[in-house]
Amino acid sequence: MLHIDNLKVFHGPIEAVHGISFSVKEGQCVALLGPNGAGKTSTISAITGVAKSTGTITLKSDDLTTLPVESRIRKGIALSPEGRRVFANLSVEENLRLGGAHQKEGLADCIAEWFDTFPILGERRDQAAGTLSGGEQQMLAIARALMAEPHILLLDEPSLGLAPKIVTQIFKMIGALKDKGMTILLVEQNATQALRLSDYAYLLNNGRIVAEGTAETLGSNDTLMAELTGLT
Ligand code: ATP
Repeated sequence: MLHIDNLKVFHGPIEAVHGISFSVKEGQCVALLGPNGAGKTSTISAITGVAKSTGTITLKSDDLTTLPVESRIRKGIALSPEGRRVFANLSVEENLRLGGAHQKEGLADCIAEWFDTFPILGERRDQAAGTLSGGEQQMLAIARALMAEPHILLLDEPSLGLAPKIVTQIFKMIGALKDKGMTILLVEQNATQALRLSDYAYLLNNGRIVAEGTAETLGSNDTLMAELTGLT
């Protein structure tokens, strides 16, 4: 589904990611793990077209490399960004409507589907998004990204700043999306939880992939896990 080849990401003169390659197959949840500053958000920003990069980014058979952000969204990339940026003054439903603004028909059905999948959002449909709890805002940010009906969902640190119990709920939600067949690239510092629902994972450090494997292989590597969980 998504193939990244020899990706280098630049912030002005700084090269933050030094030529990484990885793929996400259809229906898979793939985790991109690593500590602060490893280059995870830079990688996501390059995929969405926000950050300057070289290398190739292919989604299905489309080469996205030179396309602007809007075209990449149209081709099927959706992002739930770090810091769950919802429109605080708009209601839950209005936030979802904005996420589905491209849809001429079927918007109401799409909203109903996500209210069905995430009932807490349905219960709070008229509430201002800014008054939701952190976990609910994260859920809304993910549901809003899904309103674009993407081929792949990019999740940037969905567990960041949430209490452990809420983190478990968010990961359950991501698991439910995977069960629905959604293809997911999950960027996380919380390696233990991320590996639990991922098919494959890449460990990024200092802008390079330093380990990769199935969740089972990486999860059973005690030395690596000790390092990774020390970082969470
Ligand atoms: P975090 O979890 O802290 O967001 P990360 O793995 O997502 O970490 P990035 O945010 O991608 O890491 O940062 C990778 C490197 O690029 C870091 O050294 C960071 O300082 C640098 N960097 C990121 N964004 C910018 C920017 N806009 N301008 C300059 N340098 C940047």
